[in-house]
Amino acid sequence: MRIEAGVATDKGRVREGNEDAYLVEPPLYAVADGMGGHRGGEVASQLALETIADLFRKGDLPLADQVREANRAVYERSGVDRAVAGMGTTLTAALVQGDLAHLMHVGDSRAYLLRAGTLRQLTEDHTLVNRMVKAGEITPQEAEVHPHRNVITRSLGTEADLDVDEQDVGLLAGDRLLLCSDGLTGMLTEEQLQAILEAVPAAQEAADRLVRAANAAGGVDNITVVVLDVAEGESEDGAAATVTVAVRPEAIPPARNRRRWWRVGLIVAIAIVVVGAALAGLRTFLDTRWYVGVADEHVAIYQGVPADVFGFELSHVVEEFPNIAASDVEALPEWSDLRDGINVDNRDQAEQLVAQMRERIRVAKRSGGGA
Ligand code: CA
Repeated sequence: MRIEAGVATDKGRVREGNEDAYLVEPPLYAVADGMGGHRGGEVASQLALETIADLFRKGDLPLADQVREANRAVYERSGVDRAVAGMGTTLTAALVQGDLAHLMHVGDSRAYLLRAGTLRQLTEDHTLVNRMVKAGEITPQEAEVHPHRNVITRSLGTEADLDVDEQDVGLLAGDRLLLCSDGLTGMLTEEQLQAILEAVPAAQEAADRLVRAANAAGGVDNITVVVLDVAEGESEDGAAATVTVAVRPEAIPPARNRRRWWRVGLIVAIAIVVVGAALAGLRTFLDTRWYVGVADEHVAIYQGVPADVFGFELSHVVEEFPNIAASDVEALPEWSDLRDGINVDNRDQAEQLVAQMRERIRVAKRSGGGA
């Protein structure tokens, strides 16, 4: 079979960015709808499709394994990059080989088949509301307006292991396949989708029309559409495809190695705590130490110890006695080492020592003067 592809994506009329991505790499086609915060959603959908596209070009893995590798890539990035932690993406992919389309599906993007006037949804939404519909708890009509209709139960990149729906669809000439994100199906009914798909013959024009219609209906979400027309004939490789674009042409920011910086940060934090505790302990110790020494050539009471470490004084002046000259005290034999600091147990003792010094000088001067 020969495939003619049309593709369109748009951020819609409400969202600021486009977290959808698409892959048109004949004969592989996919849409992905990212989630997990603005940046996370963009990175998840794009990283998933780039991973699949890379592996597909190398051609050494079955599609299911490529999808699992994409899951691993998104999951691991999510684990090392805090800016995108918890991100994930839907994936609906079709690999066309001969007259078979191999479908891979996770999440709430969809694949439809229009054949002979009937539009059929091929994929099953992995959503909470779909589960409730299947359990008979709500009707499909209630699901469409349910407040939790956007909650998806399975996505690529949020778990280490991924359960992927797979199916093969036999293709007939004249079939039209549609892959789309929920920004399309949330805005248009299946009747509206079918009307456009049947009215517009060219694949690219049909894709454009679907996006325009979704925007006209509100455009509350990003809209991505891949239309694949099946015709008789041999598929031509890549070059003949109408679209050869891979994914949205925006670079994925490189993964920053947050884990390493986190470790460095932890070590620094521990060092700060240890040094801080040591300093706090030293401070507590210094606060209990007192001595009498010299400041500006007179006697002074200090708190701390008469020393310095790397230029930092381990003491400070508490009280100065400008009328007691250091030289007078040093002249007395018992306090000749005043300049080195005379340790005492507390401030009271320091005051007593200073009083003794004052008295001894007074006596010495009187006796000296009287001699
Ligand atoms: Ca969406």
